[in-house]
Amino acid sequence: MELWYTEKQTANLGITCLVQETLCNFKSQFQQVAVLDTAQFGKMLVLDGMVMTTEKDEFVYHEMIAHIAMQAHPSPKNVLVIGGGDGGAIREVLKYDAVESAELVEIDEAVIEVSKKFLPEISCALSDPRVNVLVADGIAHVKQSLGKYDVILVDSTEPVGPAIGLFAEEFYADIFKALKKDGILVAQTESPFFNRDLIESSYARISRVFPLTKLYLASIPTYPSGLWSFTVGSKCYEPENCRQKPVNTKYYNFAVHRGAFCLPNFVKELVGEQGK
Ligand code: SAM
Repeated sequence: MELWYTEKQTANLGITCLVQETLCNFKSQFQQVAVLDTAQFGKMLVLDGMVMTTEKDEFVYHEMIAHIAMQAHPSPKNVLVIGGGDGGAIREVLKYDAVESAELVEIDEAVIEVSKKFLPEISCALSDPRVNVLVADGIAHVKQSLGKYDVILVDSTEPVGPAIGLFAEEFYADIFKALKKDGILVAQTESPFFNRDLIESSYARISRVFPLTKLYLASIPTYPSGLWSFTVGSKCYEPENCRQKPVNTKYYNFAVHRGAFCLPNFVKELVGEQGK
């Protein structure tokens, strides 16, 4: 008998994967945590029934949440990743020699543990001496951090449960204060097909806080609709500029960096760029 895992991405649509083995499936303090070994995408982290990351396509998301900001900043020394308990964003951040410290603030220790156990290629950098892993709420953490970070990446789940506050204007204002005077924020902001209101509201909130705000896109097969957005808020550096030497990547390169900001018309209208 075959076993298939289906994520209902909307009330009317799902992605379904043939499962070869269920490696773990339990309720943590915050969410249902599962790691499935799937025929198509390899091992897959699923939280509350939503695909978070998979062995076969994680490189796209983790490279694109990290390298745009890490390249746009001339010398990112101190980096904060909020969420991101799988460790993929941290792995990408550490590819820069300039990085002196990388902090991970993940609210659910269970995510870190299962990622270390079942997804070592993604979580491998969590043991790097430059990394400090904190099990805490990212909302509270940024409130107590002033002028500390060059780059902050918000690698959160969808705006449900403890992640709801990670999409609030107050949170973005606290991030602005936690960044140094030339800092850069990147937040994952969901799908232009299925989460239009969220993209529009997040962009508006971030642009009320940051002088430079841009949206960029990447193609991620296992995320709802396959097209994903990221919103960058920058205090002074132009997000489209690449200021570092190339790093070892599978998806990201300088042409992809600049091209990611070229938005289709149906996305331009979410950020007030229609007709430009
Ligand atoms: N790449 C995935 C995506 O785009 O949906 C998200 C990766 S990561 C698994 C998301 C993490 O955010 C989860 O592990 C979750 O526990 C964490 N998280 C949610 N709310 C949080 C909060 N307030 N503070 C810190 N971490 C939080």
